[in-house]
Amino acid sequence: MAFPGVAGMRAGDQPERAVEAVLDRTRERTASLNQLLFGAAVVVMSILVATTPFPGDAALFYAAVVLVFLITGATIVIPWNRLPLPLLAAVPVLDIVAITMMELASPDTGLGLLWIFPAIWLPASFGVVGLVGGLVLIVGIYISTIALTQDHEPDFSTYLLVPVIVAVSGSSFLTARRAAAQRMLLDKQARLLGHALERTRRQEQIVTEVLDAVDFGVIRIEKDGSISMANEAHDRLQQTLPQASEGGSPAFRQDGVTPVPAGGLPLERALRGEAFDGQIVWFGEPGADSRAMSVSARRLKDENGGEAGAVLISRDLTGELNALRARDELVASVSHELRTPLTAILGYIDLVIDDDRIPESARAKLEIAERNAERLLGIVADILAASSASQSSVELTITPDDIDIADVLRAAAESLQLRADERNVSFDLTGLEPAHAYADAQRLRQVIDNLISNGIKYNRDGGVVTIGCTVDGDSTWILVRDTGIGMTEEEAAGLFERFYRAESIRSSGVRGTGLGLAISRDIVRAHGGDITVRSYPQIGSTFVVRLPSTRAAAAPAPRVPPRDEEDAASTDEGVL
Ligand code: ADP
Repeated sequence: MAFPGVAGMRAGDQPERAVEAVLDRTRERTASLNQLLFGAAVVVMSILVATTPFPGDAALFYAAVVLVFLITGATIVIPWNRLPLPLLAAVPVLDIVAITMMELASPDTGLGLLWIFPAIWLPASFGVVGLVGGLVLIVGIYISTIALTQDHEPDFSTYLLVPVIVAVSGSSFLTARRAAAQRMLLDKQARLLGHALERTRRQEQIVTEVLDAVDFGVIRIEKDGSISMANEAHDRLQQTLPQASEGGSPAFRQDGVTPVPAGGLPLERALRGEAFDGQIVWFGEPGADSRAMSVSARRLKDENGGEAGAVLISRDLTGELNALRARDELVASVSHELRTPLTAILGYIDLVIDDDRIPESARAKLEIAERNAERLLGIVADILAASSASQSSVELTITPDDIDIADVLRAAAESLQLRADERNVSFDLTGLEPAHAYADAQRLRQVIDNLISNGIKYNRDGGVVTIGCTVDGDSTWILVRDTGIGMTEEEAAGLFERFYRAESIRSSGVRGTGLGLAISRDIVRAHGGDITVRSYPQIGSTFVVRLPSTRAAAAPAPRVPPRDEEDAASTDEGVL
């Protein structure tokens, strides 16, 4: 995976080492620069001595000059940074010797002033030892030369050199101490920077490893539209996509056949600054090779809340979508196949029941067979309606009218009384208030039958199903409450999904398809209403249905969106 490195730093760079290198170079340069400076002063002195009458021993003076030149040459040639530091002290000490020779050559010319050079150098490079050693050496030598050479009484000017050299040396010592303190600070900061850099590098490595380990593609789009990072999964996914055929768009919407309009590809949308969730695109002409990707784009913000580009996440959904499609097709075709013979069975049972010649005992049995066949037909119709391959929008077209809801509820309870008796469950209808709604009576009955029969089915023996209704302005409310097994919050969350059955119910042996509530919600929503649930384990569940109370309250025209359309609307308004 390509990841931009930490600004300007290469692996292995250590700020502490960089500082050490700078200090080494500085030491080497200080030795040669100091000596060169001193050498230059000596050259000027030599020129003066050569061009003007020299009051003293010229031979001794030139011998000293030669010594200075030799020392200067050595400082240039010798790699001081590789030698132990104390050896470097030899240079200023030899300079002091050379200056002493000059002072001895002509004690009255003030050549001793040149001692200022080593007096500055020694404390700057060797601290207290340099300061004390240098001063003791220079002052000692100076006083000795006065004693040896001066034939007259020493006066004020004779001793002036000593305080000057002491002051200059002390000031050099203090300046060097300040510089050393600053260097220590710099060292500390360099160490901190080094640790921070190391941490950043480690984090960068972890992020890289994590991103390369996941099986969804991730790319980072910068503010200027360039792609600065792509993980391995992204590259892998790209390679699985079929190549674009010339002239035509290889990308299709979620249905797999409608081409994605120009500029509607996820990357194009992300580059335009859009954020979206789960845009599904089929790449490649419909057929075996086409691949479905679910792509999401998230906008990123910088620390000031400004625009900082985006991240695009893609996942291969081909397997899942193909499996869903296959399941829906199978469900749709099986239920279609079952419907025809079942309708025939029902027709013939009806004919036989209507025949006066059959005995009463056989009629009762045939009526049981008819009820069960009708129930089977109902289940088949449910499965067909729930299958997304079927035209649910057509099947769920409703014909609403102004109906008496209390009547519908009472009739539903009556028809389910037998089943309730079998479970020793009683109905409480005291909450039925006069209520009208603008609804399709037949469709609504399907919903209420389902809610009441669930209230019986998932109740305890001897439990109660409370049924009520009321009107509140534009809304009519229906309530179905049971005293049964109830559900946990997690179970209730998936309740309205197709084929959903709570885990505890699956293993309990209670029969069901997990379709009733999904279809009920579709029907209620088709009316412009909604259905909600509150449930507590071992206490019971309460289902509440809201419907428009009048035609005016029902607007806009009720219609159930096909499932694909509904899912798309909930995730993305773009190309899906
Ligand atoms: P079915 O009853 O055929 O399984 P439904 O769609 O009507 O299908 O219900 C789906 C699931 O919701 C049930 O399997 C059950 O787990 C749970 N459920 C529905 N109604 C109730 C209820 N009144 N009390 C407890 N659980 C319920």
